[in-house]
Amino acid sequence: MISFRNVRFLGSGLLILLLVAPSPAAQPSAKQLYQKALDLEKVRKASDPAQSRISEWKKVASAFRAVYYAYPSSSYSDNCLFHVGALYAEMGSRFNDSLYFRRATSSYQFLIEQYSSSSLVVDAMLEYIRITRNELKDDQAAEDMEVALRKRAPKTAASIGKTVTATAIQPAVMKTLRHYTGPDYSRIVIDFDREVTFKRNRLNDPDRLYVDFDNTLAEKPLLTQNFQVDDGFLKQIRIGQYNMRRARVVLDLKSIENYEIFSLYHPYRVVIDIQGKKSVPVAQTPAPQTQVVPPEMARANASGQYSLARQLGLKVQRIIVDPGHGGQDPGCMYAGMQEKNITLDVALRLKQILQDEYGYEVLMTRYDDHFVPLEQRTAFANSHSADLFVSVHVNSSRNKQARGIETYYLNFATSPEAMEVAARENAIAEKNMGELQKLTAAIALNSKIQESRDFAGLIQTTLVGHVKKQYPAVNSLGVKQAPFYVLIGAQMPSILAEISFLSNQKESTLLALPDYRKTIAEGIARGVKHYTETLAESKITQNRN
Ligand SMILES: [Zn+2]
Repeated sequence: MISFRNVRFLGSGLLILLLVAPSPAAQPSAKQLYQKALDLEKVRKASDPAQSRISEWKKVASAFRAVYYAYPSSSYSDNCLFHVGALYAEMGSRFNDSLYFRRATSSYQFLIEQYSSSSLVVDAMLEYIRITRNELKDDQAAEDMEVALRKRAPKTAASIGKTVTATAIQPAVMKTLRHYTGPDYSRIVIDFDREVTFKRNRLNDPDRLYVDFDNTLAEKPLLTQNFQVDDGFLKQIRIGQYNMRRARVVLDLKSIENYEIFSLYHPYRVVIDIQGKKSVPVAQTPAPQTQVVPPEMARANASGQYSLARQLGLKVQRIIVDPGHGGQDPGCMYAGMQEKNITLDVALRLKQILQDEYGYEVLMTRYDDHFVPLEQRTAFANSHSADLFVSVHVNSSRNKQARGIETYYLNFATSPEAMEVAARENAIAEKNMGELQKLTAAIALNSKIQESRDFAGLIQTTLVGHVKKQYPAVNSLGVKQAPFYVLIGAQMPSILAEISFLSNQKESTLLALPDYRKTIAEGIARGVKHYTETLAESKITQNRN
């Protein structure tokens, strides 16, 4: 019997194993591997923890893991799991990152479940309870483990006593549910007053997906509200108070391709993305105006011609332009200028060029100064079946000398600078980025990373090249990757352009010039066209083969 959590745990382990496992003939014994891990641990402990790099800690953890991957039934395995748990718990404190506390609890839990006769189980349980309660604030998990501990070691359980069940910590409140729906995509966003833990489950006959939120009360109006969707793949959404401590959201499904659930922070919300089975497009007949999608049809360009992309009937027709921030969220500010106004100005110019000169159909996530939540922007693009997504932002840095143009696509961040930019654009603290990195790694599997990277590359070179003609001092910071809320779950190639630094005096002066903003918009538009043309070329090449 292996629980879902363990399967995941093993899954990532197996991958590492495949990469590092030596050939059977050369394989060292369990004892040798264990000794090697202990030696590494000794070296790490001898160095100053405040100076230590995260890679040194990870090296020790993988050395211990290597033992139970290679010799799961050896007598060293439970010790190794315990070491890994302790190591991650220490990393959680040292690097101030809840991701490592979670890894610590996974390791202890694995030990508790898979090596239940080990003499280390009780200690693992105590550590698990301490971490879930004090560090992860997951009282539900701590209480569940206390129940198990009372069975296993009643005296020990009594000694930690008092905190058990009766504490009844104040439940979280489920406040609102929003949903954005298109022909084959829905995003459901549930808002809470604080972070909650949840479990998902899929049931057949009838097909439904439900998510249970621990220690959560749904607000009364939610319980009586009927979220009738009926869009062909998602029938309706129901909310119930399963018991005094558990709220449940049920999605009644018709035919879905897949789904994804994740959390976003500040304020805390849970997002459910549902991908319906793609409806077969009706050949040749243009879509009737009454469809879900409101937009203007693709226009002929200024000279009365349809664009190359349109003529070739290629994929890119509808582009979403997303001006960063808006309303109560001004973005970065400097010298009386606000990012939200600059991004809107550039986005409107970009829209016009893309439509009038190149004949694309363009929709914007906002047309004026109002607030649009980040998760709603991608949902808008997905539910309108857009082909490309371009988010326009203005950079800022604590380093006032920093200047230049950079283009991002969604992935986990690989540099502290990229991390800083993403934290700012996500409106969350940098220390909260750990969970997001993990989430992005999971979601990235299903998204268009490769295409987005190509797209970002063409935008960056074309944009910088174009700006250079008029503003030779322009600085290219290149293409970068980072986890941006606004790009998570996008089903089309999507990028985020940071068009210059408002925090840099020279660039803020430039951004104030209408001509500079026009040049930026032209550069991005050319990049889009360039990307579309490379798609056309590859499509023609494919057809020839
Ligand atoms: Zn921004």
